[in-house]
Amino acid sequence: MQILKKMKKTGGEKPLRVNILRHLGLTILLAAVIATVFTAWNPYHEDQLTLVERIQSIFASNPGGNSGSFPTPTPQPRPTIGLIPGHQGISGGAECPDGLTELSVNQNVAFKVMELLVADGYDVDILDEKDPDLENYYALALVSIHADSCEFINEQATGFKVSPALDATRPDKSIRLSSCLTSRYMETTQLPIHTGSITHDMTQYYAFNIIRQDIAAAIIELGFLNLDRQILTEQPDLLAEGVYRGILCYIHNEDATLPTGP
Ligand SMILES: [Zn+2]
Repeated sequence: MQILKKMKKTGGEKPLRVNILRHLGLTILLAAVIATVFTAWNPYHEDQLTLVERIQSIFASNPGGNSGSFPTPTPQPRPTIGLIPGHQGISGGAECPDGLTELSVNQNVAFKVMELLVADGYDVDILDEKDPDLENYYALALVSIHADSCEFINEQATGFKVSPALDATRPDKSIRLSSCLTSRYMETTQLPIHTGSITHDMTQYYAFNIIRQDIAAAIIELGFLNLDRQILTEQPDLLAEGVYRGILCYIHNEDATLPTGP
């Protein structure tokens, strides 16, 4: 339509009375038509260049998009990990005579695990011990973080333990998460596994019964507040690294073979 309008306007402006002038006029008209058509189809025409620039700017401003891929109309939600700093929202958990609480240890570690996961691009839900959001909760994985008694039991009351949510519809997922946590936590912290004391409280952990039953869930006791006090209070970064690596081991489907101890 634009071409037609231009052609009419250019051709209608020259009155032709003499033959020579007519030929001259026809030549000018032909030149004008060719020029107009050429201009309209030239790939560098101003209008088309603007369109190309507009497309380029759409790709350039695609938030979070990879260069070379098309923008998606709805962004994918980021994978989420749930963490329960044990006893948060209800009590301090186990307590030492000098006031050190299990809750403070659990929170120190849980929040550092969160930082590591967020830095990797995961979303993290920090949930209270009896959080209403645990009802039918689902995520890539859920880990509840606790620490053991501050009472002196015996010289063997040292080390950590992990228990999976066994009664779930997908115990295989929880068992693999537990194996990964055990393997990586042991490797990272050098703490021994304290297998003898996995209690009813761990295997029948409250949250395991209310979360969505196909979620991968596990509870870890980081160590004993009595004999492992030093590492629990002075190296929360190291403990968090162990839990974080365990979660990644599960997500990435890594080999969860236990490290060969010293
Ligand atoms: Zn606890």
